[in-house]
Amino acid sequence: MARYTGPVCRLCRREGQKLFLKGERCHGPKCAVDRKSYPPGEQGGQRRGRRRPSDYALQLREKQKMRTIYGVMEKQFRGYVDMALKAKGVTGFVLLSLLERRLDSVLRLGGFASSQNQARQIVRHRHITVNGTICDIPSRIVEEGDEIEVREGHRDLQPVVAAIERGYSAPEWLDVDSDRRVITVTRLPEPDDIQVDVDEQQVVEFYSR
Ligand code: SF4
Repeated sequence: MARYTGPVCRLCRREGQKLFLKGERCHGPKCAVDRKSYPPGEQGGQRRGRRRPSDYALQLREKQKMRTIYGVMEKQFRGYVDMALKAKGVTGFVLLSLLERRLDSVLRLGGFASSQNQARQIVRHRHITVNGTICDIPSRIVEEGDEIEVREGHRDLQPVVAAIERGYSAPEWLDVDSDRRVITVTRLPEPDDIQVDVDEQQVVEFYSR
């Protein structure tokens, strides 16, 4: 599936906030949002202070932001929205919950990768098993009771070791054993477990137009 391969800091600057797409760099003084607080592009600096954007523009931006945070392209994202619309429960939460339950998200949330992109690569390169079977599909949705493990012989993989050393507080629905390199899904996420700075209701409204 095609993915965005341009400069990722530009995406944060476009949204005007840190989306934490680059791991360690996001927490240091080189973060582009901290250094340039205006949108990218020649006119970026001049666009500050323009009149209030329309509802549509706000909804579009929230949708793009959510896609960027989880590294999902439009077609696949639309699939998640359709699943959320058909599911029982509050659509915005179900949508976020599905995105958090992606295998690459779980690796990042469990502290075994320092960015979503890095987590995707770790999965793609076949370093991960789910319930004892190699899984190289970053979009796999985990279920309660699943055990996600870095494969034996791959446990000292540099990005995994670096992410663990950096330290990360995993959400309560994940039990993390860093020494064994195992993340267990003890339950499905609840609304309070999801700490993402995005307005999911705006995203749902964008697709309900
Ligand atoms: Fe975004 Fe991280 Fe780049 Fe900062 S360093 S602009 S948070 S990707």
